[in-house]
Amino acid sequence: DMSNAIVAQDELGRPFIIVRDQSSKTKSSGLEALRSHIQAARQVSDILRTSLGPRGLDKILVSPDGDINITNDGATILTEMQIDNQIAKLLVELSKSQDDEIGDGTTGVVILAGALLEQALKLIEMGIHPIKVANGYEKASKIISAHLDEIADEIFIDKEDLDSNLLASSDLFKAAKTSLGSKIVNKYHNQFAKMAVESVLKVADLDRDDVDFELIKLQGKLGGSISDSKTINGVCIDKDFSHPQMPKFINNAKIAILSCPFEPPKPKTKHKLEISNVEEFKSLQKYESDKFVQMIDSIKKSGANLVICQWGFDDEANSLLLANNLPAVRWVGGSDIESIAIATKGSIVSRFEDLSSEKLGHADKVYEVEFGTTRDKMIVVENEKSSTAAIGKTQVNTVTDLIRGSNKMIVDESIRSLHDSLCVVRNLIKNNKIVYGGGAVETSCSLKIMEEADKQKGIDQYAFRAFSQALDVIPMSLAENSGYNPIEELTKLKAAQVSTNSPHLGIDCLGSNNNDMKEMFVIETFIGKKQQLLLATQLTRMILKINNVIVSGKDQY
Ligand code: ADP
Repeated sequence: DMSNAIVAQDELGRPFIIVRDQSSKTKSSGLEALRSHIQAARQVSDILRTSLGPRGLDKILVSPDGDINITNDGATILTEMQIDNQIAKLLVELSKSQDDEIGDGTTGVVILAGALLEQALKLIEMGIHPIKVANGYEKASKIISAHLDEIADEIFIDKEDLDSNLLASSDLFKAAKTSLGSKIVNKYHNQFAKMAVESVLKVADLDRDDVDFELIKLQGKLGGSISDSKTINGVCIDKDFSHPQMPKFINNAKIAILSCPFEPPKPKTKHKLEISNVEEFKSLQKYESDKFVQMIDSIKKSGANLVICQWGFDDEANSLLLANNLPAVRWVGGSDIESIAIATKGSIVSRFEDLSSEKLGHADKVYEVEFGTTRDKMIVVENEKSSTAAIGKTQVNTVTDLIRGSNKMIVDESIRSLHDSLCVVRNLIKNNKIVYGGGAVETSCSLKIMEEADKQKGIDQYAFRAFSQALDVIPMSLAENSGYNPIEELTKLKAAQVSTNSPHLGIDCLGSNNNDMKEMFVIETFIGKKQQLLLATQLTRMILKINNVIVSGKDQY
């Protein structure tokens, strides 16, 4: 079931929306169509409003085949909802593009877009042309974007200080912890925040302030408790060595990565293999064991000291491997094989004849780990990074965050939460600018654009005020979800921001008697907030214009 609308990017990386021809569908006209579009968008964004923030409600999603999923993640809620309306589907795409680029703020972006549309509709009902609203919105969003530059703050990332003793007091750690605030893993905030910071720092290229997300693997494994989750240096495979007597720890591993089965090819006879006497049977046996010896030989000759095999092998092969001091792992899945090849810079070899020393992967250590309560075993392939080790921490070329939990629902939601937190840390390493959350930044922008409205001539002043009111939806939703009266809280908040001239004040969702978000360290990344604003405004303008195209098409008749 393909959506009729997709978000694409132009050559400058600006997102735009492609809507496929819907000519077979009946079109309603003008205002009526727009009203129903906006109605559909509102329904979606209203659902998400109740999950915003640390006091937001989790959603229980039940799929058609009965799978249950509990989540607080906007992108996930939208993906699992059965949405037929084309405009509502655009909001799903909106959330996804925020997720792809930033990884956080996926709920907020949809709520903001929904509010922008709702406010636009009010103007259109008053007789203002949708294009004029769209243009006014664009102007407003440019002013807000400039205002964000003004009020942005920076956090301090001291690369030297990030050893485990000081980690908990670092800004990165606090930011990671805040981003977990609304998620299911509440009890494990410290542990997950630590995992997020460590994972990113271990693979980050700190000279270039860059993080390749491909190098962080998120892996769930049922069993144990969430507190058994941990960050492992390297690729982690859910297997054990093929023979209990093989060594459990290999230093300086040279790995033959095989996608060919460890079994002799069938003898090349034109006829069906028929064994009618003992001699024939013995010769077949000899043929097979000769082949095994040849295979082991080619592995040995290549210089490998570890075999990772996509397929299985029988006891005979297994004992030969053991006898030849070749620890081996069998039945390693295709994607694990690929991860190992990438992490060890080896090639996947599909024929024993092709094995050579250049094809081998290299790992500093390969070892088996055992998990506390469950005694489950996994194998870790670990490589240290040579380049940026200067910061005094071990850097590795891949990390795996292994998430444990007693059921799939918890494991899945924990993975999503950690993912968001990883994104925040990554974004901060790329750009250490921040704004303050809890609705503080939206309130400041709302006040700014209201002030600017008075300076506008014509229709723009209406569009600016509408934009200002749309921004209010964020602090209001946060207040409402925390059990406060939204209008009262918003009024108080605005008055406080004006009188103290501080863009740090927001909604005290957690009842900590402090609404200074800077003091509470409730932050959002600057690039995330900018992206939310950009995407929400663009989508709104697009929807207002889609309608206009339909109207003008009809007008010709
Ligand atoms: P999203 O998917 O958009 O990130 P969340 O459900 O994570 O949505 O909620 C994010 C919102 O909650 C942001 O406006 C953020 O500033 C706010 N928020 C997060 N933690 C707190 C807190 N401790 N106090 C007040 N607001 C918070």
